Amino acid sequence: MNTLLQSIAAGRAVAREDLGPLLALFEPGDQEALFKAAYAMKLKQVGPKVYFRGIIEYSNICEKNCYYCGIRRDNRKVRRFQMTREEILGAAKWAHASRYGSIVLQGGERQDKKHAEFIEDILRVVKRETNGELGITLSLGEQPRDTFERWFAAGGHRYLLRIETSNPRLYAKLHPADHSHAARLQCLDDLKAIGYQVGTGVMIGLPDQTLDDLASDIEFFRERDIDMIGMGPYIVHSETPLAAEMPDFAEKARGQLDLALRMIAVTRLYLRDVNIASTTALQALDAQGREMGLQAGANIIMPNITDTKYRDAYQLYENKPCLDENAALCRNCLQRRVESVGETIGFGEWGDSPHFQKRTGS
Ligand code: SAH
Ligand code: SF4
Repeated sequence: MNTLLQSIAAGRAVAREDLGPLLALFEPGDQEALFKAAYAMKLKQVGPKVYFRGIIEYSNICEKNCYYCGIRRDNRKVRRFQMTREEILGAAKWAHASRYGSIVLQGGERQDKKHAEFIEDILRVVKRETNGELGITLSLGEQPRDTFERWFAAGGHRYLLRIETSNPRLYAKLHPADHSHAARLQCLDDLKAIGYQVGTGVMIGLPDQTLDDLASDIEFFRERDIDMIGMGPYIVHSETPLAAEMPDFAEKARGQLDLALRMIAVTRLYLRDVNIASTTALQALDAQGREMGLQAGANIIMPNITDTKYRDAYQLYENKPCLDENAALCRNCLQRRVESVGETIGFGEWGDSPHFQKRTGS
């Protein structure tokens, strides 16, 4: 086995300068050893429990035009939708009745007042109708600080906003000129100052992204004292400008999956006590992708609880799995999948990030 891995498996802490070399370990034997070390760290820090966050992909209407995303504003081939208030509340109640500790409300980015009010109302009603029991994460892009504040006051307590890459030059290549890296950073600062549990993440395997970039991403998570990590492989969507940069994606898929799993493992070894999601994009590359993520150190899964009639219109990337599986099927299938790798599910628990609890003394 690689000597660096040997010392880490024997208990030496992972240092900043180890991140790049660990991410580069693509030999199958080394990768397995890396995943094993990360899994041991997960057991020690957060235990063998997996928490479910039922994700409601409530709208694909988006003001932004990110070059990689299938629901970007200029993709005219997408049928735009927004779930009704009743549909969203119905999904939230289903999650509560199914003893999911929390939900994630995700959608395209809209900064108008009407939208802010719509979400605020949903948050208050969900909190009221679930006796404050259902945790709520928001993933609704960049917003003015006062919107973040209103949503927090109404009951949102976690927020996921991926930085996409910590490298500002790469960020600039992936977005139109009016999409600002600095504005994203400001949002992360605002969310933390308001009191949210803050989640961020990156896409892994982007065109022109280097292992050094990914190592810097992990350091970025540490410097910013991030509580939750949601990151996954970059997957081409053919109706986007970035697709032309990776015409050979099909041949690269296996490598993308492996790299994403190593990113999870190295992040677990370096950050230790954060929540890390095993994202659906992993499963788009391999039917067992999410189980692999759990075995590489992730501890969160986000089952899709969006009504199946909307799912094909919410494709950020291609080959999204479970397009035709309703929420109940998804629950059973995931429970089986999680238990098949020897883990248990924290039903009815919020499963807050231990890092957040330590950071805030809560
Ligand atoms: N509009 C919100 C939330 C929805 S997008 C936002 O942007 O924050 C959620 C995430 O999907 C993005 O942060 C991005 O990392 C991911 N995503 C978009 N297109 C993708 C692609 N082609 N491959 C993999 N992930 C993608
Ligand atoms: Fe909109 Fe988010 Fe997609 Fe960017 S990544 S186009 S903000 S949905």
